[in-house]
Amino acid sequence: MSVTLAIVVPCYNEQEMLPEASLRLLALLDRLCAAGQASADSAVYFVDDGSADRTWALIEAERARDARVHGVKLSRNCGHQRALLAGLSVARGDAVVTIDADLQDDPEAISAMLVHHAQGCDIVYGVRRDRGSDSAFKRGTARAYYRLLRLLGVEVVHDHADYRLMSRRAVDHLLDYAEVNVYLRGILPLLGLRSAVVHYDRAARHAGTSKYPLVRMLALAADGVTSFSVAPLRAIALMGLIVFVLSFAMVGWVLYGKWFLNTEIPGWASSVIPIYFLGGTQLLSIGVLGEYVAKMYLETKRRPRFFIETVL
Ligand code: UDP
Ligand code: MG
Repeated sequence: MSVTLAIVVPCYNEQEMLPEASLRLLALLDRLCAAGQASADSAVYFVDDGSADRTWALIEAERARDARVHGVKLSRNCGHQRALLAGLSVARGDAVVTIDADLQDDPEAISAMLVHHAQGCDIVYGVRRDRGSDSAFKRGTARAYYRLLRLLGVEVVHDHADYRLMSRRAVDHLLDYAEVNVYLRGILPLLGLRSAVVHYDRAARHAGTSKYPLVRMLALAADGVTSFSVAPLRAIALMGLIVFVLSFAMVGWVLYGKWFLNTEIPGWASSVIPIYFLGGTQLLSIGVLGEYVAKMYLETKRRPRFFIETVL
């Protein structure tokens, strides 16, 4: 039994990659059709996330050449996660695969994903076999980040980016999550659907440049924490409790010294250090609190996450 497959590809200023990506994905569809894994009405959906270069013109050209290519044009740059959502909301099919336009994630793994799908899995995560193509910095920060998430009780699949297959019902279910700040990697495990993992090798980017500068990476990482865990808020309360208890102990210690040992604790350092320590702790706590308040503020407005200008 072959399924209608939809491949969703978010594109932001990907004019260098687009023709090659289209060529390779269509060739892949041909092979999957020939192998009986995907039906002839399978398609590729390119989502133009408000590109400033010729990306949309190239998508239109691909569409003119092959009707299996679809285009979704967002009115402005909404970010990778929302571009993915926009694509998922438009894509038709029994199974939807999301993959980056740079094809760093080996498209050949889709065949293995379809095998799991045929066996009844609703989500098949693409997991990188090794992170050799990343800089030591990216590897180190990724490892620390996964550790932090686990500590905070957030469940994510390690070394999995947004390369995955989702069944129709997984996509429909996912689109019910209405949060404005989406972090797909965190939501998917919450769906509770049957899942599997497919390993693949990640190549370096063929052409174009990474659209994830450090600041954006950090923002996504922070989103992952604050959207799925309130542990930082609890940590503040715990910290307050510890300082409170310690301050009582300190009072006892000072009074004991004064009454029984007749020692006076000398001046400057013992008063100034606690002031700075507490001042710093308080500001940090207010900052963390502010993060959550800001998130509530942004979420309560319920602004639309993307606006689709054109669908081809
Ligand atoms: N992308 C997007 N909108 C953005 C930034 C990125 O749609 O605002 C797309 C980009 O075109 C690519 C994918 O998201 O297809 C992943 O981006 P990139 O390859 O630059 O990230 P990296 O692999 O360096 O983390
Ligand atoms: Mg990339």
